[in-house]
Amino acid sequence: MPTVLITGATAGIGEASVRAFADAGWHVVATGRRADRLEKLAGERVHTLAFDIRDDAARDAALDSLPAPFSAIDLLINNAGLALGLEPAQQASLDNWRTMIDTNVTALVSITHKLLPGLVARKGGIINLSSVAATYPYPGGNVYGATKAFVRQFTLNLRADLIGTGVRVTSIEPGMVETEFTLVRTGSQDASDKVYAGVNPMTAEDIAETMLWVATLPPHFAVNTLELMPVNQANGPFAVHREG
Ligand code: NAP
Repeated sequence: MPTVLITGATAGIGEASVRAFADAGWHVVATGRRADRLEKLAGERVHTLAFDIRDDAARDAALDSLPAPFSAIDLLINNAGLALGLEPAQQASLDNWRTMIDTNVTALVSITHKLLPGLVARKGGIINLSSVAATYPYPGGNVYGATKAFVRQFTLNLRADLIGTGVRVTSIEPGMVETEFTLVRTGSQDASDKVYAGVNPMTAEDIAETMLWVATLPPHFAVNTLELMPVNQANGPFAVHREG
């Protein structure tokens, strides 16, 4: 069976994906910072690696330690990511902006660069977690949305370079999925509960099953981008400010 490496496997979409791919018989490399959570996922088909995705040396040491068959990665799921804050740009924290860029952009391209030669050798694939925030601006989305627009465009540009290699690259672009995402963004469980209340949002399992579907399509068939929303979410009108 093939091997998938999933970043951000300690919560939400990543954790649900570990279970979905392992249940489907894949070998799974599950990564994230919280080692205690990774331990609960470890098993015969799941090998865990605890490291901060922004730390190049820690990432390389962890990946270089992988035993067979986990070392032969066929699919990279670039899922680790976060939003921090909802303040308007003129009031936002520069530290928060840098953390989002370091994690969602710099770390994502770095692990992709590291694994790409092996993915090409095995005619593998990459699934990147972008967001509807890549396409639709919203107040407070400033740098988070911009990082996800980078992820979408990086996906499409990888496709352009990888033509002829058999490697598929997909940008998954969800709207509201109830995970720890809003807790991390706001620092408040109460604020998170209010965001999802009454929405019937997508679940982490919905996204995991979608990624398993993408990953198991016949090899001639590529999904470039996939936008997903709960039925109770849609795009709003343009904001118009009237003077006076
Ligand atoms: P989540 O429940 O907060 O999970 C985020 C994961 O990213 C955690 O496992 C976390 O692990 C990992 N992570 C964050 N910073 C890291 C770092 N420096 N090093 C290693 N791992 C790190 O959020 P989620 O909703 O599942 O988000 C997964 C992806 O989906 C993100 O890229 C997010 O932008 C995207 N997305 C989410 C939604 C949504 O509505 N939930 C919508 C669109 C897109 P540790 O903290 O243990 O390191």
